[in-house]
Amino acid sequence: MPEQRKIIIIGSGPAGLTAAIYTARANLEPLLIEGEPSSTSDQPGGQLMLTTDVENYPGFPDGIQGPELMGGFRAQAERFGAEIITAKVSQVDFAQQPFRIWVGDTDAEPTYTAAAVIVATGAQALMLGLPNEDALLGHGVSTCATCDGFFFRDQHIAVVGGGDSAVEEAMFLARFASSVTVIHRRDELRASKIMVDRAMENPKLKFQWDTVVTEIIGDQKLEGLKIKNVKTDEESKLDATGLFVAIGHRPSTDLFVGQLELKDNGYLQTRDSRSLTNVEGVFACGDVQDDWYRQAVTAAGSGCMAAIDAERWLEERGL
Ligand code: NAP
Repeated sequence: MPEQRKIIIIGSGPAGLTAAIYTARANLEPLLIEGEPSSTSDQPGGQLMLTTDVENYPGFPDGIQGPELMGGFRAQAERFGAEIITAKVSQVDFAQQPFRIWVGDTDAEPTYTAAAVIVATGAQALMLGLPNEDALLGHGVSTCATCDGFFFRDQHIAVVGGGDSAVEEAMFLARFASSVTVIHRRDELRASKIMVDRAMENPKLKFQWDTVVTEIIGDQKLEGLKIKNVKTDEESKLDATGLFVAIGHRPSTDLFVGQLELKDNGYLQTRDSRSLTNVEGVFACGDVQDDWYRQAVTAAGSGCMAAIDAERWLEERGL
């Protein structure tokens, strides 16, 4: 028999854990399914587990380490009675009430049923897939200029990518860095014209066209990059103490294809500036539905919104 729950939260980043804190304090006895580590860059706890110093999360004037911050979120949720299990959801069925959720064998009976579900499965920054990349994440390699740019004052920074994110990050980093080199695999940026025009006028930005990174050099921290011109095959070394990978994000929505409405870019569609999805009783929060802000504090805020939306929805239906 499936275990029956009032509310299940899928995902354990700032959004999911904030939703757990709020729903636990509302006596909804939430079950949070946090995921399972599948690689160094895919960990329960979300993207902050891969971050070192976090200096922009309000309430920590001296900064805090990403994993420590997430440990605090988790302890706070558990203190109010949220149950957290380390497992991956393998299948969901939102076509009927109560909603059905499987962990493990998808041909077996569902593992759980729930009257309401909060989806907080997050997004992952796409990475280059180079050997040293995961090891140096938080030690010179970053995927978020807003978060980490400040640490690279007066340094040489490289940004990989040619879309709006790469150009925006490069412009932001140019405020701190002595120089920023944008490494793009083609000779034309994908970014919008207005962003490209601004970037071209910025004296601190340089462009390495038709170029890919072939090696990330450094032991404890980033010391430089090996790059290759894809047209000439010429290889060279680029001195840089920061590498910002800005080649896009992938929201974790595979589970919800055919179940929930997705935007064209694969993110979950929420409605009315709230956490409502197209299925009544299923709510979404955090980066899985946010292709714009992508900050821990905005994810946490939207987790609170989803918890309140879910609580009121359950209350209205006497569930
Ligand atoms: P994106 O538009 O998909 O661009 C990704 C860039 O990374 C492309 O230039 C791509 O090269 C490059 N790339 C992809 N995989 C790569 C790899 N393995 N190695 C090297 N380069 C690789 O992603 P985005 O820039 O994150 O933007 C996502 C969406 O958000 C877009 O719709 C964008 O317009 C929007 N956005 C808007 C703003 C703004 O308006 N202020 C800011 C940020 C993002 P190719 O060009 O060769 O494919």
